[in-house]
Amino acid sequence: MIFPWDVRRKSCPHCQSEAHVIPVLYGSLSRRAEKEVKAGKVHYGGSVVSLDRDQWYCTLHHQAFGGVSEALDEQVAAANAD
Ligand SMILES: [Zn+2]
Repeated sequence: MIFPWDVRRKSCPHCQSEAHVIPVLYGSLSRRAEKEVKAGKVHYGGSVVSLDRDQWYCTLHHQAFGGVSEALDEQVAAANAD
């Protein structure tokens, strides 16, 4: 079974590239996580953790994407492909 939150790094819907894509963190951050946010290695999505939160963020287009619902859609589509 594949869980939607296991979906790996994805391409930005705008640039179709993973080159500028970083993970999104939510909730309260550890010190280490704070450092990574400041270093631009991860994007801070806010303190509210919702179920359909986006998992990825394109630093070029400043857009988060790859929410759970989107991932679920893809899993369903893949499961129905053959
Ligand atoms: Zn992009």
